Parts: sequence; C-alpha cells; structure tokens
Amino acid sequence: MNEQSSFHMTPEEFRRRGREVVDWIADYWQRVESLPVLSQVRPGKVRAGLPSQPPAQGEPFEAILHDVETVILPGVTHWQSPNFFAFFPANASGPAVLGELLSAGLGVQGMLWATSPACTELETHVLDWLADMLGLPARFKSCGNGGGVIQDTASSASLCALLAARERATGYASNERGCDGRLVAYTSTQAHSSIEKAVKIAGLGRANLRLVEVDETFAMRPDALARRIEEDRAAGLLPCFVCATVGTTSSNAIDPLPEIGRVCREKGLWLHVDAAMSGTAAICPEFRQILNGVELADSFCVNPHKWMFTNFDCDCFYVADRAALIRTLSILPDYLKNKATESGAVIDYRDWHIQLGRRFRSLKLWFVIRSYGVAGLQHHVRRHVALAQDFARWVEESSSFVLSVRPPLNLVCFRHVRGDGLSSSLLERLNASGSLYLTHTTLNDRFTLRLCVGQTNTEERHVKRAWETICETAKELEKGGPV
Ligand code: PLP
Repeated sequence: MNEQSSFHMTPEEFRRRGREVVDWIADYWQRVESLPVLSQVRPGKVRAGLPSQPPAQGEPFEAILHDVETVILPGVTHWQSPNFFAFFPANASGPAVLGELLSAGLGVQGMLWATSPACTELETHVLDWLADMLGLPARFKSCGNGGGVIQDTASSASLCALLAARERATGYASNERGCDGRLVAYTSTQAHSSIEKAVKIAGLGRANLRLVEVDETFAMRPDALARRIEEDRAAGLLPCFVCATVGTTSSNAIDPLPEIGRVCREKGLWLHVDAAMSGTAAICPEFRQILNGVELADSFCVNPHKWMFTNFDCDCFYVADRAALIRTLSILPDYLKNKATESGAVIDYRDWHIQLGRRFRSLKLWFVIRSYGVAGLQHHVRRHVALAQDFARWVEESSSFVLSVRPPLNLVCFRHVRGDGLSSSLLERLNASGSLYLTHTTLNDRFTLRLCVGQTNTEERHVKRAWETICETAKELEKGGPV
C-alpha cells in the first residue's frame, strides 16, 4: 500500500496543516473581540449546514477548515472574547492549548502508573506545586497521607468526595450493599447544582440533601448546619457529608470554613470544599484568607479550567486521606495487574476517579504554570479582581443600579432600581446586541445581573465599555416607561 492509499495524513501534511490550524487559532484570538459574543444562530441552524450523510471518500483539509469558518463559527459563543462576562470565566491561553496539543499527540492513556509513568508523576508533582501556590496545608500533598489528582470537572470531584464520605460513614459497607436511605448530605441553598446531582448519583437520594440556610452575604450559616445535623441524628439518620463553597456560582459567596470545619470535626462528617470558581484567587497572598479553615477539610477542589488560563477540562481535586478515596473506588481486574502496582511504590490514578482511562492533562497545567510563573498568574488574578471592583464602584455611584451584595472577588451582582422587569429586559437587549455577554441569577427573590471578569484578554477598556453599554441601554429602556 503506498502512502497515498493509506488514508492517513502523512507526517509532512500534518506538519503543514498543523501550522495552519495554529495560525487559525492565533488569528481567531486576535479577531474574537469583533465577533458577537453570544452566538446569534437559531436552533437547528448549525445542523442544517451539515450534510445528512458522512462523506464516503476523504475530503481535502481545506474543505474542512472552510466549514469551520462558515458553518461552525457562527454557532460558537465566544468564551474567549474579552467581552465575555457571563457565568464564570473559562480562560484559555497559548501555553495551555499547546500543552493540550502535545497531550493529544502523545496520545497516552494514563490509567496506571505503568501505562505511562510520566503521566502520573508529572500530575502528582504539578498538583503538589499548585497546593503550595494556593497555600493549601501539607496534608493535601502527596508527601503525606493525601494528594491531588486532575479530574475532568468539579462535578466529578464532588461526586468522588461524596462517595468516599459515604463509605467512611458506613465502614465501607455501602459499596457492598448499597445505601439504606439513612445517609444525609448538607450544603447551602447557594451551592452548585452539581452537589444535588452527586447526591442522586451516589444513591443518597435527593430527599436526603439538606440545603442549609445562608446569611445576608449568601454564605452558609454554621449554626443552621449544626442544628440540621442534630435534627437528622435525632431522627435516626446518618449525616455523612458537608460541601462548603468558596465562591458560589450565583454570587461568589464564601462559606465560613473555620466554623463549618469545626462542626464537621465535632460531629464526624466529611467536609468537602468546592472552590471551583474562585479558589484560584488564593494564589495571591492578599486573597488567601478565603481558604482559612481549609485545614479542617477532608477534600478540596479548584478549577484551573475556569480561572487559571488552562482550557477545559482541568479540575484539581485534593484529599487529605488518599487511602479513603482509593478504598472507595478501587477495582483491580486481572488484566490491570502489574508489578509496579503490586510493589505499592506508585500511584495508579485509576483509583482516584470514576472513569478508568485518563488523558495526560497535567501537561497543559504544567505548561501554564511554567510559562506564566506564579507572579504572572498573580498579576492577572489581581487585575481581574481590581477591574470587577472598579465596576462595582461605578454601580454604587450610579442612580440607576444597586449592588445586590458586596463582591468579594471578580463577580459583581447588581440590578436596576426600577425592578426585575427592567433588569431582565436589559439583559436580553444587551446579549442580543452581541457586544457583550452577561448572565443572571436570583438573589433575595430579585432578578440580578451578573458580571464576571476573568477572561484572558479582558482589559480595563472592555469593562469600561461594558459599563457604558449597560448604562446607555438602560437609559433607552427607562425612556420607554415601565417595563
Ligand atoms: N462548583 C462551582 C462553585 C461552580 O461555579 C461550578 C461551575 O459552574 C461547578 C462547581 C461545576 O463545575 P464543573 O463544570 O467543573 O463541573
């Protein structure tokens, strides 16, 4: 069979096309600011541009890239736009994307240490670095009884934490016999929906998740948590897991870890800290107090794929007692047995998460940390927080808007003084304009606009322009009378 008929892309063509794709990405990042942030396509539009059947014969690469531009791009919401202020950041960067490409090129499957020692050892090492960067206690590092692992998402990390908590509470019996309906988990009314999903998947049942009351900053009330646990104990139930959030998705609220940690210690519950959205801030010493009390936690997660210039997916999950996690998730069929595992001298990450297979994800995080350096990452986190705080000041000084809560970091929650109707019409009109993208939440039963600063190339001018556009659009709506 000659090279022509192998159907494979030749190394030479890969080299050429690879350069084209990298060029395409670099051009995209340069022009993304000029594209409508929120995709304006109607449902079905992207599929309508695709042939109903796959090609019988391979097509030229030019044709594929052409369709990326004409069919795919209009259906993309531009998360990498500096005018993206919605949900949470998902900031990518050159080093991360190149690390990702290298991972794909190596194509290793790191389920066992033996299936690619570098995949495991780099991950362990980079997660120890990150623990130091965030000021996490040594108990979460691999040199002691704990350690970190990269998960696909915070949702998976929280599920693993809950499973380990479930097993610890039942003496590892629920793995054998399933749940008996007595296990109870706790989180705040403001926690991410992934906790509810985890409770369903882990078999505790939605009815056994307690949503604990919050204070005026939307942070969990430790006294309410303690009371709920006691009530459940008195009813013959088995409280086993608390998830505290450092930076809720809705409003960035920061649950008081020292007090929650003390309740968990006193009552013997597993404490998981979900810092998916805001944990990155702890890289800066001046924000590190958000993690005060994390030394009382059993597990912790943070998402570099949100706010650390590392493209999706990359959640860093830490446990203080890796034996509890491994015992919960370990499965060892004959075909995975090997000498390195039997020696006990290596980490096999397959026992640290749900799936068996795993990519070489630490490469992209390693590239990012080495390329930016700690100082570079601190610089950008500080910049984002400062821009959000500027925006909050403009809201406070305006007569048309009010802050819904004081922003602790880089997310500002605000609303129009004329009420929910105007706030929601404003959001709709802003997003339809394509010039920026904001999302909303509900706080104290009020429709609330959210502006989150965290994209890689968001600068002062973007935040200023966002504020001007918001004010101008609000004025037009105000003129239109009650909305
Ligand atoms: N926890 C918090 C606080 C979040 O903000 C998010 C993201 O929205 C998640 C968990 C879920 O993140 P992931 O997509 O990594 O599962």
